[in-house]
Amino acid sequence: MTFELMKLPYEYNALEPYIDAKTMEIHHSKHHAGYVAKLNVAIEKHPELKKRPAEELLSDIDNIPEDIRTIVINNAGGVVNHNFFWNILSPKKQKPSEKITKAIDKHFGSFDEFKKKFGETATARFGSGWAWLVFHKGKFEIISTPNQDSPLMDEKVPILGLDVWEHAYYLKYQNKRQEYVDAFWNVVNWEQVEKLYKGIVK
Ligand code: MN
Repeated sequence: MTFELMKLPYEYNALEPYIDAKTMEIHHSKHHAGYVAKLNVAIEKHPELKKRPAEELLSDIDNIPEDIRTIVINNAGGVVNHNFFWNILSPKKQKPSEKITKAIDKHFGSFDEFKKKFGETATARFGSGWAWLVFHKGKFEIISTPNQDSPLMDEKVPILGLDVWEHAYYLKYQNKRQEYVDAFWNVVNWEQVEKLYKGIVK
């Protein structure tokens, strides 16, 4: 095994009541673990890829051998997106820092406007996918990707992301994706957002 399942930085029940323990358990120990396992099987065919971080496989996706490219998009994407997601969530109620608030206000007009646009993008994603706040060419963008496609494939660096696959919310929220999206703001790890932001905007 080359790629490993990341350990969650909190317990499965830590994000209750916003994200329930059963969803977290299945999401991490079945879905996320499944992406890890499938990625490991795929790269057995091209062992030279084992030396490279999964993020790098995605940002260099055009040079990944064609016979496994789609499997890498889906499963390295699945691994990297979920590693990112677990770290962007926190059981500790947090507020965005002044620095990140100012930057978001400046770009989106107001913090509420940002949240509204992000939420709309998340609810509008048809089928499975993700909503993201990314940095691209020096600017914020709110985007959505289908399936496990990673923003890294388009040279976009994520700062914040929300998994809107039904597996992320269906047990608790059923068809009410909007309620899950609204609940998300209660468990955002703004310290992590800040860290990512500082890593890009020097
Ligand atoms: Mn997921």
